[in-house]
Amino acid sequence: MTAKVETALRGPQAYDLARRIIEAMESANVWPSALNFELWTHYLAEPDGALGTEIARLLAAGERFTEATADMLAAEYLPRGRLTEEIRDAGRVLDRELSSVAAAISQAHQTQSAYGKTLEGAATSMEGADGAPALQTIVTSLTTATRRVQRENVTLEKKLETSTKEVAKLREHLEQVRRDAMTDALTNLANRKAFDDHLEAACRQSEEMGTALTLAVLDIDNFKAFNDTWGHQTGDQVLRYVASVLGRVAKTPRIAARYGGEEFAMIFPMESMSQVEKALEGIRKEIGTRALRRRSTNDELGTVTLSAGFAHRHVGESAVNLLERADAALYVSKREGRDRVTSAERLQTAA
Ligand code: C2E
Repeated sequence: MTAKVETALRGPQAYDLARRIIEAMESANVWPSALNFELWTHYLAEPDGALGTEIARLLAAGERFTEATADMLAAEYLPRGRLTEEIRDAGRVLDRELSSVAAAISQAHQTQSAYGKTLEGAATSMEGADGAPALQTIVTSLTTATRRVQRENVTLEKKLETSTKEVAKLREHLEQVRRDAMTDALTNLANRKAFDDHLEAACRQSEEMGTALTLAVLDIDNFKAFNDTWGHQTGDQVLRYVASVLGRVAKTPRIAARYGGEEFAMIFPMESMSQVEKALEGIRKEIGTRALRRRSTNDELGTVTLSAGFAHRHVGESAVNLLERADAALYVSKREGRDRVTSAERLQTAA
């Protein structure tokens, strides 16, 4: 859950919110299942969030809110829940594979110990064996026992081979799930969770190696008005467009992420402030000059502009503080008329 939804559920209005959720579900003919309640909590507590926006769109389009709809929304917008389910499934497959390998090993173990006993018995029988026919009987029983052991070994090998393949498939699948859980589904950029992890790691590295680190936050100007005028679907296309420009500029080791609704963030490790400013100005100009069209009707949408703020990390500075300074610089960009890039360092010098 996002911080906003968490806060709403634990704030003074929590019970009031819960009642409103139930009422809203009832008037939309939605069953009060646990999953629906969770989805509608997002819708009411954070109507501008990605999930809230999507539910509003479905309702406005008059679509029925079926179980399949709820499952689809949960899979798309509640990645943590999905991750838990995938991990549970993976656990079940692992359990199955491990018990089947354990059973094969135990079977092979029993056969080996029976074989040992057969050998011991044969050795004793040989001492008192009288003539070739008696020896032949002993050798025949040894041959049979040896074949049985060989068969068991082949079975065990096959079982191990199948299990190794199953476990490799599982690992690949979990890796994909992990990647999905760190990716924003609409824009394919890193999501907020992934970004927070990257930023912490980048700050640690900058501190340990004494290297430069700059953080930028970028926000599409007047996006709400744009959404209201053109609708959420076109708004989503604009988010994808902005993301595609950021993604192109953010070649490794740079990182770009969708930080929230129409807010993006970028990490620039080991670059000077002027390099970062040049990159951000390039992004701002590219986005601000592209004439967008509504794909369904070919209507001209005009241009969208972007405001940005960036901060260069000080020695010993935490990720949270760096983010606050970049945010403050973004705020200045907005206040001074939008469509501009502001440096937190320059603000400080000016002050
Ligand atoms: P998309 O629709 O999946 O398009 C992917 C890429 O295919 C675009 O990357 C662009 O290189 C090319 N492309 C697709 N349709 C057209 C077109 O009609 N004309 C031209 N010249 N190229 C086209 P790009 O430009 O980086 O855009 C990334 C995403 O941003 C697009 O994904 C779309 O979701 C959104 N987008 C970009 N421009 C517009 C626009 O003018 N209107 C709308 N509605 N969405 C746009």
